[in-house]
Amino acid sequence: KSSQSLTQGFLLAFGELFLKSKGVQKLLKRNLANHLTFFLKKEKVDFKLRQYRERFFIEINPYENSSRSSPTRTVLVGMAKVLQNTFGLAWFAQTFFLAKANLKDLSRFIKINYPKWLKPNQTFALRLKKDESVKESREQIIKEIAEPIKRKVNLGKPNKEIFLEGRKSGWFIYFKKQKGLGGLPIKSQGRIMTLVSGGIDSTPASWLMAKRGAENIWLHFHSFPLVSQKSIEKVRELARVFINYQPKLKVYFLPFSQIQLQIKTNTPAKYRVLLYRRIMFKIAQKLARKENCQALATGESLGQVSSQTLTNLAIIEEALKIPILRPLIGFDKEEIIALAQKIRTYEISIQPQEDCCSLFIPKHATASGRLEIAQELEKKLGLDKLIQETLKEAEIEIF
Ligand code: ATP
Ligand code: MG
Repeated sequence: KSSQSLTQGFLLAFGELFLKSKGVQKLLKRNLANHLTFFLKKEKVDFKLRQYRERFFIEINPYENSSRSSPTRTVLVGMAKVLQNTFGLAWFAQTFFLAKANLKDLSRFIKINYPKWLKPNQTFALRLKKDESVKESREQIIKEIAEPIKRKVNLGKPNKEIFLEGRKSGWFIYFKKQKGLGGLPIKSQGRIMTLVSGGIDSTPASWLMAKRGAENIWLHFHSFPLVSQKSIEKVRELARVFINYQPKLKVYFLPFSQIQLQIKTNTPAKYRVLLYRRIMFKIAQKLARKENCQALATGESLGQVSSQTLTNLAIIEEALKIPILRPLIGFDKEEIIALAQKIRTYEISIQPQEDCCSLFIPKHATASGRLEIAQELEKKLGLDKLIQETLKEAEIEIF
């Protein structure tokens, strides 16, 4: 006699996390659990998170005072949306869970329910996974489950796969694995500061860093009031999309027009872009230190524009100590656009903006600057005081 009970929820499989040592795994799992808890609460899901060695089970709490025996579509769709945006998952599947069930209970459950899952002419395959607490052999289990299913078996190309996972706590029954985002749980790999322009590239760059577990803080340089607030509004809109992936996002908005004007009036056109960018990074490094960020990240891609040649990248970062990460360095524009579409930032990022650079960018920027010249020009400008003032005018918004 058993006291089995049926609930529903989602079963989660980890990606790379599974390859780590025990201690690291524990940390990563804690990050993942925090992340899921935050987003599921935001979706108002009433759930319990059960942790196994290589799985999480998000169990939807049974409805009290309700005649419903299964969760609503709204709840399931909301949960799937959260899981679809969670880093660190190889796959997830909506699942039944027969708690405390033995093989007889499982067999009975399937016998009663399979006509709902399989039309009379459909084929099926059982996929079995069990841990050491399940004593029956694979053959025995398959035989016991498959026998009462009056449908044809097709192991190669079935109409439906029925996945069965046996554990000490009970049996999971599910049909469809949905691919997760992969990567590592967010916040598990420290913190970075990403330079975000509002254009197409920088948000996907930030997302790729988040995918590998780095928590992002954003930094945006704007040229308001010399130009409209459009770039600021775009960055806000992008931030609101980004918090689907990272629970909280801090964004720095820094006025850049005074510095740009100084550069524009005092340096030759050829070198202006390099100087803008050297100064941007200098400021970014200061802020990154203050925020305990261990690296900067940008949306630069090799050779995309003249400031992104190897020669110029070297000049731009020459004076920096902090590592600069460029996750898009080997991406073609087309690949970046595809990623921007996938993460749903593309439409926002292509809205027109007179971004701080387009206003100030000369027609002919050099693709192969000389470091000594850039250094010399920068020294003459003597921007330290202006940089200090700019930093004081920083505005912070939390999303
Ligand atoms: P994006 O599409 O991200 O704007 P881009 O192709 O226009 O990139 P650049 O304008 O050369 O290229 O900028 C390269 C990178 O420098 C950006 O991806 C971003 O990380 C950073 N960057 C450029 N402009 C700004 C800005 N106004 N504020 C913050 N970061 C910026
Ligand atoms: Mg840009």
